[in-house]
Amino acid sequence: MHKFSPGRSLAAALLLAGSLHAVVEVQPCPIDKTTMTATGNTRQEAGKTLAEYKCEKGHVYWIAVD
Ligand SMILES: [Zn+2]
Repeated sequence: MHKFSPGRSLAAALLLAGSLHAVVEVQPCPIDKTTMTATGNTRQEAGKTLAEYKCEKGHVYWIAVD
């Protein structure tokens, strides 16, 4: 078993998110059930990385990706 460094796994997750687009399993929009897609925007909040997702109707959600 490898010891997993949180910093390194976060960097890897961000790299994957940037190149693959659908690393995180995203639930459909709770309001209209349409598919949500990542906009590519991220932000840090309380030590977590949040990624911005938008549904087909334009509802925006920030989902923790780590
Ligand atoms: Zn929606």
